[in-house]
Amino acid sequence: MQREMPEHLHPNATSSPVAGDLWVVLRAPNDVLVFEVADGLGVVSEHGVVPDGAHIRVGEYAGRTLWATRVDADEDLAVRGAQFVHARQIIGALDPDQFSAFARARMLVEWHHTHRFCGACGAPTVIADGEYASVCAACDLRSYPRISPVVIVAVTRNNQILLAQPIRAGRPMYTVLAGFVEVGESLEQTVAREIAEEVGLTVTDLAYAGSQPWPFPHALMVGFTAQYASGEIVCDTTELVEAGWYSADALPELPPHGSISRTLIDAFVATHAAR
Ligand SMILES: [Zn+2]
Repeated sequence: MQREMPEHLHPNATSSPVAGDLWVVLRAPNDVLVFEVADGLGVVSEHGVVPDGAHIRVGEYAGRTLWATRVDADEDLAVRGAQFVHARQIIGALDPDQFSAFARARMLVEWHHTHRFCGACGAPTVIADGEYASVCAACDLRSYPRISPVVIVAVTRNNQILLAQPIRAGRPMYTVLAGFVEVGESLEQTVAREIAEEVGLTVTDLAYAGSQPWPFPHALMVGFTAQYASGEIVCDTTELVEAGWYSADALPELPPHGSISRTLIDAFVATHAAR
């Protein structure tokens, strides 16, 4: 079954970039070319020479065709007024349209880069005409861009929120708990399992609180709020440095703005800050 997409999002393997098209330029593994624009930073530009190598049609941006490309880790493009930065460093500075373009470009480029050969028979693949699918010329296997759901949960207890310092953060930054959905799980089951595994608690009153594509490399963050139900915090020390309950007026270092984790924490603060 082919996935239906709006006409303007159709990739088209036979079309080619032309002058005036727009670009998102990514550098392996997580850098993005950033431009200074009138009121901040930009990741979409018509600047520069199109690099050699694979590129993929991302869709439309500001009424023009948007392409993305991936250059090697050691490559540096000489583009006036632009530089590569780690994408996580500038997410909070992008407006929603820029973030969306970056996320889509990042995920499509990553998918294209990792699906150049068939997973069944090993023959080279091509991108399908009319949908985002890599198609094997030998056995006709179709592979679609992978999207990996991750639950992220703001757990509250009275006037406090559960925050934890992940080991992988590499610095004293505290965030709400999150974890990948495992094969065969519902989102509700993932929430219960993750919170039990990471801090030994049970929760109740789970409520959906929004979602965000998170292109590192291909997650869809699915946000929830939940209420503490039972248990005492016992950290999984393979994942967390520590975890604890925090009041809105005494928060530790938080994730950057622009992430759904920060949005969930900010929502807690907005409803629990002293008035
Ligand atoms: Zn094949």
